[in-house]
Amino acid sequence: MTAALLAKLTQNKLGKIHLIESEAIGTIGVGEATIPPILDFNRLLEINDADFLRETRATFKLGIEFRDWKRLGESYMHPFGTVGAGVGRAAFHHSYIRARMAGDPTPFEAYSLASVAGRQARFAPPPAGDRGVHSTIGYAFHFDAGLYAAFLRRYAEARGVTRHEGRIIHVAQRPEDGFISSVTTENGLTLEGDLFMDCTGMQALLMEKTLQTGFEDWSAWLPASRAWAVPSANAGPLLPYTRSTAHGAGWQWRIPLQHRIGNGIVFSHDFIEETKACDILMSHLDSKALMDPRLIRFRTGRSKAFWNKNVVAIGLSGGFMEPLESTSIHLIHSSLIKLMDLFPDADFNPLLAKQYNTAVGLDFETIRDFLILHYKVTERTDSEFWNYCRNMSIPASLQYKIDQFVENGRVVMSRGDLFQLPSWLSVMLGQGLIPKRYDPLAKLVESRTLTETLATMRETIASHAGRLPLHSQFLRQIGMELSGEDQA
Ligand SMILES: Cc1cc2nc3c(=O)[nH]c(=O)nc-3n(C[C@H](O)[C@H](O)[C@H](O)COP(=O)(O)OP(=O)(O)OC[C@H]3O[C@@H](n4cnc5c(N)ncnc54)[C@H](O)[C@@H]3O)c2cc1C
Repeated sequence: MTAALLAKLTQNKLGKIHLIESEAIGTIGVGEATIPPILDFNRLLEINDADFLRETRATFKLGIEFRDWKRLGESYMHPFGTVGAGVGRAAFHHSYIRARMAGDPTPFEAYSLASVAGRQARFAPPPAGDRGVHSTIGYAFHFDAGLYAAFLRRYAEARGVTRHEGRIIHVAQRPEDGFISSVTTENGLTLEGDLFMDCTGMQALLMEKTLQTGFEDWSAWLPASRAWAVPSANAGPLLPYTRSTAHGAGWQWRIPLQHRIGNGIVFSHDFIEETKACDILMSHLDSKALMDPRLIRFRTGRSKAFWNKNVVAIGLSGGFMEPLESTSIHLIHSSLIKLMDLFPDADFNPLLAKQYNTAVGLDFETIRDFLILHYKVTERTDSEFWNYCRNMSIPASLQYKIDQFVENGRVVMSRGDLFQLPSWLSVMLGQGLIPKRYDPLAKLVESRTLTETLATMRETIASHAGRLPLHSQFLRQIGMELSGEDQA
């Protein structure tokens, strides 16, 4: 991703770009669900959807279904796009809460086309220029992480990036200021450079091992520390959404691709043994495993700086928050775009790094709060893990958001919030937060008018969803070859 974007935007004219990778180390091989801003990243690279879908065996994603998160047996959607439309002056959710207080049991997701279509395994992107109900959906992709890396490698090499195979075994620093001057691989290649992008994954070879930048640990708030990942055969209808199913000490992901399903369990090893978590994952697969499961250990938190001296840490080397809302790849894309906006010259003016660190730090913190919300606001009391999550203290920034919502039905957006109002509302309501009040302006609409308007909205969405093609049909229509059984 980094080599591809730098090559595209600098056109290799600000300096030669070298990419060093080690096949012996490989990539982490997970990271297959994304969020809608990936469309902007693809546009920036001028990659068209059809090429992207074919090369990475991708499918469409309309959001995430959360099962058993609020309590066992319940499910809600966090859809992409908008939910409902304002009735009168008040924002939609105030009318929704008013109706709910009056006894209307309709779930929030009934007002989201992405949710209703997703639940029926239906998908088609909104036609260009559409301003009707179809335009209310947002979408992203699920893709094969290995194929995505290979696709972007080819893209980068075609634009002049030179790739070198081999493990870096030595990093040299300038004696006067500690800036990195060169890296040397095991096969004896030494490369000098001005700007070093540390994309070495969790080992953070330059940012942490060499510059010892320091790490801010967030595991008290996001206690998951391990994951098992395993692919399985395609089965059942091809769902256009990620499924996240909560278990006793973590949760399981299900990511449908054209040729297989990506599965994994994310868990806290303080609350469950690794082997037991693996058993839970394997016993909850809905189709045959295609490989042995693989264990991944991680630490939740962020590097104290994302740009230090002449090193910028992109990806897992800069920090990691678990994949609950598929945000890591987005953080890579958004950090790269911020870097392009603040691109340094050879002087490396420290104010540029300062601005970059503030902006990326804000991205991390606002996403962190959104993730913690899922764990903190739960009614589950069936395990030590959920008891811990329900009772843990949370950042003041998140507590304030929760208090405002409970007291007034208001969602206060923070500077830098990636997730917007429909996302916060879907998760707050889905996890069981019910406000005590709503906007008094929502009372200005007559009760009968409100009931009728809400019913019309639901019917419009339901009838439009029913006319969309099945996700699998749409993929076939645009030339994709699906493999696996029962894709209809
Ligand atoms: C369990 C799990 C699930 C995830 N799911 C999602 C998801 O659904 N959505 C999402 O957005 N993100 C997800 N992520 C995050 C996502 O996987 C990463 O953000 C993404 O893959 C980028 O990883 P990376 O490039 O930083 O690191 P890596 O993939 O680890 O790549 C590191 C690279 O550095 C090279 N390297 C390392 N050391 C050396 C060395 N000494 N010499 C030479 N080369 C070296 C390696 O060969 C490799 O090419 C998930 C992460 C985990 C752990």
